[in-house]
Amino acid sequence: MSIPKSVVSKLLEFFPDWRPQMYFKSSLTALSHAMEDRLLADSDAPLVIASFQRERFYRQEAHRYRRIANKTNQVYVLAAPEADFTNSSDVYETIAFEPTDSLAQEWHLVVIGGQYACCLICGEKPATTPDQKATSAMDASRRFEGIWTFDPEVSVKAAEFLLERILEYRPELESKIEQAKQKYLVSTILRLQDSANSSQQSNSPLTNPDPFVQRLVSYLQAGQYKLLKANKSLAIKQQKEKLLNSVTDAIRRSLDTEEILQVAVQKLGEGLGVCRCIVYRCNEQDTTATINHEFISPGIISVKGQAWRLKNNPLFEEVVELHETLTIDNTREDPRLNPQAWSKDIGEYLQELVTSCSISSWLLVPVLYQDHLLGMMELHHCDSEPINWKPDDVALVDAIATQVGVALIQAEAYANLEDLNEQLEALDRTRSNLVAITGHELRTPLSTIQICLESLATEPDMSPELRQVMLNTALADAERMRNLIQDFLTLSRLESGRVEWNIEPLSIKECIDLAVSNVKARVNSDQIPQIENLVTSELPLVQADGEWLVEVLAKLLDNACKFTNIDGQISIKVKTNGSNKLEVTISDTGRGIEPNRLETVFDRFYQEEGALRRSAGGTGLGLAICRQIVSGWGGKIWAESPGKDQGSKFHFTIPIFELPTQNAEASKSKTNKSNSKAGKRKKKKR
Ligand code: ADP
Repeated sequence: MSIPKSVVSKLLEFFPDWRPQMYFKSSLTALSHAMEDRLLADSDAPLVIASFQRERFYRQEAHRYRRIANKTNQVYVLAAPEADFTNSSDVYETIAFEPTDSLAQEWHLVVIGGQYACCLICGEKPATTPDQKATSAMDASRRFEGIWTFDPEVSVKAAEFLLERILEYRPELESKIEQAKQKYLVSTILRLQDSANSSQQSNSPLTNPDPFVQRLVSYLQAGQYKLLKANKSLAIKQQKEKLLNSVTDAIRRSLDTEEILQVAVQKLGEGLGVCRCIVYRCNEQDTTATINHEFISPGIISVKGQAWRLKNNPLFEEVVELHETLTIDNTREDPRLNPQAWSKDIGEYLQELVTSCSISSWLLVPVLYQDHLLGMMELHHCDSEPINWKPDDVALVDAIATQVGVALIQAEAYANLEDLNEQLEALDRTRSNLVAITGHELRTPLSTIQICLESLATEPDMSPELRQVMLNTALADAERMRNLIQDFLTLSRLESGRVEWNIEPLSIKECIDLAVSNVKARVNSDQIPQIENLVTSELPLVQADGEWLVEVLAKLLDNACKFTNIDGQISIKVKTNGSNKLEVTISDTGRGIEPNRLETVFDRFYQEEGALRRSAGGTGLGLAICRQIVSGWGGKIWAESPGKDQGSKFHFTIPIFELPTQNAEASKSKTNKSNSKAGKRKKKKR
């Protein structure tokens, strides 16, 4: 059975002068509760008819109706069943109407007592506008339309319509319903007529809603209080969001890790009003961490500068393992801080830490980035009375720790970028320097040559002696330019890796002899110091490119001659260095090298006199070339000198040729051939 006719429409048809009003569900709840409370407080035993749209709405109020049923036996509760709501006559009458019945769209509560009558007869308005649809999604904002009144006539009529509807569903209740009609409806109408006749209308208890209004006010106040509470929690939420935003904003703006950590602890400590807030950098393997960033409230002991143990520390290990925040509400009772749970040493350490830092509640939050531990953030409550960390606060610290992680990575990435930039700038400076120096080195001899040649061309009367001097100068500078260009090209080829190495077994003694004779051939032997060759022929063969090996030896010997007085001494020695290398040393008793220049001498264009002044000749590229060559065969080259005017030693290493054991003889003859090959080639090159 399903009755389509709405009770609201029936009532409005009956009382055409009444205009329905709009109510939100929250207001209907308040009104219904107030009506129910009013009747519960009264000594009366009224007729009560309540119609709920669904069984679940009734369930929320069932306890009230059980209390109401203690006062009166005329209680009728209607609802569309959803689970186990059925027609029954238990503590009160329940009427299960069809879900398609118009009652399913309506909300009714009618109370007819001896002293008063009131009713709430409303139908739900389906949401039509998008606005209404949006708000009605919230249960409290569903809209209803109907009548709420203390008017006894209207209330009696509403009761009558509802009792008729009940009778349709529960015909067996006919006599009970008849009794209700007589006892409440008929008598109310009679009393109403009486009071109309005796002109007591205005003071009639039937129409005086005072006590009801008071109840309603308390409901509204309760509603208001709830609203205030909601606003308060919203304000706290907003405040936390603001704090998170301000920390995020401050730390993201900085690219300095120290500043990021300090700002984070300061703002978080102040914002949450904790006793102590610290943050330290660490990774999973660290044994200790030094506390460098801290916020403390007045009167709290500082832990700045202390080194805290991380290794074997169960708290740290738990955070590292779970990558999650660790919450300790009460350090005195937490099993993780029970000294008996750990080895004596660590148990005592934790106890000592808790006592010396007065930590009664402890929060440890890992600072992570993509699951890597970057550090730890800790909050300490230091009052004797511990606190329970609020989930909201923990979530906020978590969020801040996440932001700190991102900011740290950002700062580190920037620092790396800065490093790279500096390296690039240095490279660029070197390149510009190189261009400037090379330009200068080339221009200087060029201008000399130009001046000499111009003078020769424009001064026909120049004496033959001067003419000769001019020509010699021009030729010498042309030679210097040629050497410079050649060295520069050689170095470029070596540096760019475009050199093809012709590695072969060589006798080091033969290469040294060749280099010495080359040097002597180039300069008059009377003008150079004595060269003492202490190399014996028992040495093992080396494995290198012969041309380049002689080049290194010649350059080092050239330098030794250049920077040693004629009465000085140059010596060449070779010894085995470790198991598979020979070490060649060329020593002189010349002008020596300052200790802080022992590495710089290998830089391009380094000359003690300064890059742009030359007294000893040379290009300033010789040692740079030597280093490139020696590195080419996997050796090392370095300078040694006790200091100025105390002589120098240049050492370089060279790999020993490893003889194939079964074919030593063949190899030896090949070696001899190679040596003479190297000698020929060298002579050709120089
Ligand atoms: P160059 O000899 O053409 O100037 P090098 O690269 O060979 O260029 O040497 C660079 C600088 O190292 C020299 O100008 C000199 O100042 C210093 N130097 C090199 N060898 C010696 C040495 N045997 N004794 C003292 N100083 C040396």
